[in-house]
Amino acid sequence: MNNRIHAINAIAERTLEVPLATLPPDTSIKTYGEDVFGEKEIRSFLPKSAAAKLLATINEGKPLDASISADVAHAMKEWALSKGATHFTHWFQPLTGGTAEKHNSFIEPTGPARAIQAFSGKNLIGGEADASSFPSGGLRSTFEARGYTAWDPTSPAFIKRHANGATLCIPTAFCAHTGEALDSKTPLLRSIQALTKSLKRLMAHFGQRDAHVSVTLGAEQEYFLIDRGFYLQRPDLLQTGRTVFGAAPAKHQQLDDHYYGAIRPRILKFMTEVEAQLWKLGIPAKTRHNEVAPAQFELAPIFEDLNLAVDHNMLIMEVLQRTAERNGLVCLLHEKPFAGVNGSGKHCNWSIAYNGRNLLEPGANPKENAIFLTVLLAVIRAIDLHADLLRASTAGAGNDHRLGANEAPPAILSIFLGDELNAVMKAIETGTSWASRGRTRLKIGVDTLPPLPRDTTDRNRTSPFAFTGNKFEFRAPGSSQNCAQNQMVLNTIVAESLDALSDKLDAMPGEFNTNLQKLLQRLIRAHKRVLFAGDGYSSAWQKEAESRGLPNLPDTLRAIAPLKVPSNQALFEKYGVLTRNEMDSRYEIALEDYERRIRIECGVALEIARSMIRPVVADEFSKLATAISIAKKDGLKVGVTGLRALSLKLGAGLDDLHVKCERLDKSIAKNDTAAQRMALDDLRRTVDALEYLVDDSRWPLPKYREMLFVS
Ligand code: ADP
Ligand code: MG
Repeated sequence: MNNRIHAINAIAERTLEVPLATLPPDTSIKTYGEDVFGEKEIRSFLPKSAAAKLLATINEGKPLDASISADVAHAMKEWALSKGATHFTHWFQPLTGGTAEKHNSFIEPTGPARAIQAFSGKNLIGGEADASSFPSGGLRSTFEARGYTAWDPTSPAFIKRHANGATLCIPTAFCAHTGEALDSKTPLLRSIQALTKSLKRLMAHFGQRDAHVSVTLGAEQEYFLIDRGFYLQRPDLLQTGRTVFGAAPAKHQQLDDHYYGAIRPRILKFMTEVEAQLWKLGIPAKTRHNEVAPAQFELAPIFEDLNLAVDHNMLIMEVLQRTAERNGLVCLLHEKPFAGVNGSGKHCNWSIAYNGRNLLEPGANPKENAIFLTVLLAVIRAIDLHADLLRASTAGAGNDHRLGANEAPPAILSIFLGDELNAVMKAIETGTSWASRGRTRLKIGVDTLPPLPRDTTDRNRTSPFAFTGNKFEFRAPGSSQNCAQNQMVLNTIVAESLDALSDKLDAMPGEFNTNLQKLLQRLIRAHKRVLFAGDGYSSAWQKEAESRGLPNLPDTLRAIAPLKVPSNQALFEKYGVLTRNEMDSRYEIALEDYERRIRIECGVALEIARSMIRPVVADEFSKLATAISIAKKDGLKVGVTGLRALSLKLGAGLDDLHVKCERLDKSIAKNDTAAQRMALDDLRRTVDALEYLVDDSRWPLPKYREMLFVS
């Protein structure tokens, strides 16, 4: 029997075995955060004064007092041992897009056959890792292959459990010996600093001084789940995370019957296991639901401080994958595992708060409104001027299948504000009244805004960058990408924009509110081209955007080019987020990653086509040919026509397969990525057509209808 059929039968049997879960004891809230070295643990494991100092760093951003590191290390170790940990690791985010860890045990020999468990301040604060196998894009010279990890006290240490124990994980930044960043966290932290500084400067114009700034992120994670039995039979999924072949099933998402549908028991069992682990890690998993495509789901936590939210998203992805495996499933985080159905994104909800007040929340009084509108316009200006940079932050081989592919958000960055805010913009721009306020002119700093309804009905789902009541939702990032990439860019370009506004205000003589009114009016006139409320997927928008001069960068090669533009490099350097060298290195890494991924996809496709598909087609064809000649010899009056028609089709497919494979092979040899992509798409069409023709019981690859619907 074909392996596919085996897998289906195994699922059929297992499904019957899934017991209806009895209600789990309600321990979730009691265990919330139990695997995190948080405030409670700091207070109970550290001497009082050290605890106060550490908390001041964590909560108020005060510089870390290095003299407490030994105390903190000791406290962390004691706590970790109480959780069953035997090892510690610096946990970091290299430019592979994933996370990295290198474990060390707490063991310190004290004599022959004697040892204690120890963890020093030095081991907490810094670590050394051989960086030679992490992508560096030329930053790390070969004679100096060392990389350094540095403790990030603002993201709490946590425990990762496994079958035979646990590991203490310490979030760290990762740099080269020159101090240049080799990770995603370092520039993110720098960008938060830059934004904080620029925001404080702007707020001073409003008479507000030196309050705490927080940047927040709520990242909605989309993913697919399929049965592991199928996954293991798909070399393409195994090696690239996406299916390079697979004919469309008769039914996929046309009936819209999966989105928000009742969650099936096996999936719900998986989800509750995921949540239980996340809650222990202090990750506020909140929302779970079926997504648009069959077998697609979403998990959204409540938003948190940006740096923490990024770390938490990395952990969410890891927990999803690990838990899937334990449940005989596989979690696919690729942006487009299946052609023809929706891909997966990671909506990044972003806002900034000053003194605990969300500045993207329309205010209750004229002053708050003035601040709200000013910040809003600073963001609009930033997106308009630096759309290319933000686009670059979402580039990648996987995401190319979403952006620029007439689905989910388009590659053109535009902003959706909603009807009410659009009317407000119009009123400021033209200096006229807006409908809900009778005939009076909207005076910044004097008037309050009309209440802006925060209902979800008028949300424009096709917009890549949408204002959703009190935050911006950036929908272009791909499901597998590290949020730090795009958030770092967003912070930097908004910092630049806030400064530009401050500069203008500084230079304007006269009364502040009048100046502000004039400034906002000018900003709207200059940047309204980036506002768009229509259908972002339509081809009409592509034309319209072009006439507005908005960049349309549909693929990775074009999307990453802005990283090399000198003015862009100067911007990042000015804000201390990335040096020119670091930007060059990121460009190199992105390019290399892109080319390698495409090359791997082509390699896998060729292997499958030649060694799995072709033998089956050739065999079926030769059986037909034999049957035809026997039938002819025997003088059969019926069947020959049918046999001949089928053999013609199969034979043509077989020839086609040969030609397409040769072409793909050549494009690989030529190292021509664009040609490879085309040749791969072309080969796919041939293989997918054959899938409809060949005897189902002999087709070697699990089919879409099975992977997406059988679990
Ligand atoms: P939807 O799917 O309708 O966009 P969800 O509820 O799935 O909304 O996700 C919205 C996300 O935005 C959640 O993570 C939520 O916590 C987050 N969010 C809400 N308010 C803010 C805010 N002020 N700043 C950042 N994120 C926010
Ligand atoms: Mg959502």
